[in-house]
Amino acid sequence: MAWRCSGVTNAELIKNMMQAGLIHSDRVLAAMTKVDRAHYVRSQAEAYEDSPQYIGHGATISAPHMHAHAAENLLPFLRPGAHVLDVGSGSGYLCAVLHHLVSDNANGKVVGIEHIPELAEWSKENLRRDGLGPALDDGRIEIIAGDGRKGYPSGGPYHAIHVGAAAPTLPIPLIEQLTQPGRMFIPVGTSSQEILQVDKDSTGNVKQEALMDVMYVPLTDRNQQS
Ligand code: SAH
Repeated sequence: MAWRCSGVTNAELIKNMMQAGLIHSDRVLAAMTKVDRAHYVRSQAEAYEDSPQYIGHGATISAPHMHAHAAENLLPFLRPGAHVLDVGSGSGYLCAVLHHLVSDNANGKVVGIEHIPELAEWSKENLRRDGLGPALDDGRIEIIAGDGRKGYPSGGPYHAIHVGAAAPTLPIPLIEQLTQPGRMFIPVGTSSQEILQVDKDSTGNVKQEALMDVMYVPLTDRNQQS
């Protein structure tokens, strides 16, 4: 299904999301404009449709409006220099957007963790096609093949954590790897799912707020995913 924000070019897709009120901030606008979604999809003809697209191995690249929601929600924690974890990084698209938000003239770092090794490799090719080879080479973007439910402690703690697949329950290791303060954007649930915004404050207190109902692929075991 194509949503109302679809465009013929990347610029038009982003402009339509801005006009629909899905992108509010100039910083998210600038970052999403720099990332050409055509480099992160299998079907070029549908690159600029505001809909998820199958990318193989039981995974989909999320719809652009969900990536916009995630970037806007995490934005207060995506200052230049911030460390960010993207769990279930799939195509690598959101890693690219997050990179542009935290690396502007600063040593921000984005770690993407993806449990299908073929997708982790493909996402690196996508990022290179999108001009982000230097960021991969110098470690400002790191793509790890592994189980994201455990997070990636050696790259943390993280000011912001995005989870791109639905967890049955909140994974404790991810909460532990948030900075104080820090924020996680995570879909939680099985047959019905909602996005939770999980905030850790400067004293370590954690609170959660449900934002919207969604439908994501599950955050699961590698051998459970076809
Ligand atoms: N934001 C990504 C979403 C991809 S779909 C994008 O837009 O491209 C969700 C991804 O989570 C899939 O690639 C799937 O392989 C991955 N995934 C599912 N369970 C996982 C786990 N336990 N650890 C790491 N990745 C996982």
